[in-house]
Amino acid sequence: MTHESATLYVVPTPLGNLGDMTLRAIEVLRSVPWVAAEDTRHTAPLLKHYGVSARLMAAHQHNEEAAAHQIIDRLHAGESVAFVSDAGTPAVSDPGARVVARVREAGFRVIPLPGACAAVTALSASGLVDPHFLFYGFLPAKAKQREAELQLLAAFPYTLVFYEAPHRILETVAALATVLGGDRTVVLARELTKLFETIHSVSLKDAVRWLEDDPNRQRGEFVLLVSGPGPNDDDDDGLRVLGLLLDEGLPVKQAAKLAHAITGAGKNAMYEAALELKKRTE
Ligand code: SAM
Repeated sequence: MTHESATLYVVPTPLGNLGDMTLRAIEVLRSVPWVAAEDTRHTAPLLKHYGVSARLMAAHQHNEEAAAHQIIDRLHAGESVAFVSDAGTPAVSDPGARVVARVREAGFRVIPLPGACAAVTALSASGLVDPHFLFYGFLPAKAKQREAELQLLAAFPYTLVFYEAPHRILETVAALATVLGGDRTVVLARELTKLFETIHSVSLKDAVRWLEDDPNRQRGEFVLLVSGPGPNDDDDDGLRVLGLLLDEGLPVKQAAKLAHAITGAGKNAMYEAALELKKRTE
């Protein structure tokens, strides 16, 4: 491999189901002399499973800068490196971003491979219809900081996506209900791609009770998705005007657009409300 073509590949790995490795990911791992891994003990069996004989180097949260230098040294020597984290896509609530930044600064090519990511996997099966989502990842562990972050997020008219570990699931869901209000829907996506995969929708006010009803529901890794806030008081005018427009026989899209233009109420909220009103009168 020539110096110029030495590349850093960012390679997603499965969340649990080994079948979720892409053909291209396997091909790339088999082609590079080095794999930089968040936890080499975790990655070694994975590489063995896919028949990859690359050498491993450690690149985790606590040595990312040093690892970046090692990776750049390899690239200067003309050797490509694949970067993997323990599960899913590197740099998504995982190490990787710093390494990528340094490698790009050093002028080498970084090629990302698409693949497994818990947030996107959960989102695709959540049934939440907000047209936008905000990926947050892990909330702070300390209650005060967590609440402050949630206060900032509460007004965003988007589905909110969080990661959480089993030992904090109850307190996090309780905090979501307290700060975001009990009426929003939370989808708890647990153990995705694994044997005990569960995807459950419940209102935030009932979510803690649902988790407590069966301790098995608190086990494993979680993605929590919270639906966007429904229409608020500011949207009252919008809803009134929307109702009048629909009564006059205007189509949903047009009624929502006009209600938004006339009253300033949220565009998406008007559209969702118009669909709902229409459904009720059918
Ligand atoms: N980089 C990964 C990705 O692309 O999704 C995320 C790594 S982060 C350190 C680990 C968190 O991702 C877990 O605590 C959990 O919130 C989520 N996660 C990972 N695997 C999961 C799974 N199989 N089911 C549900 N959530 C999962």
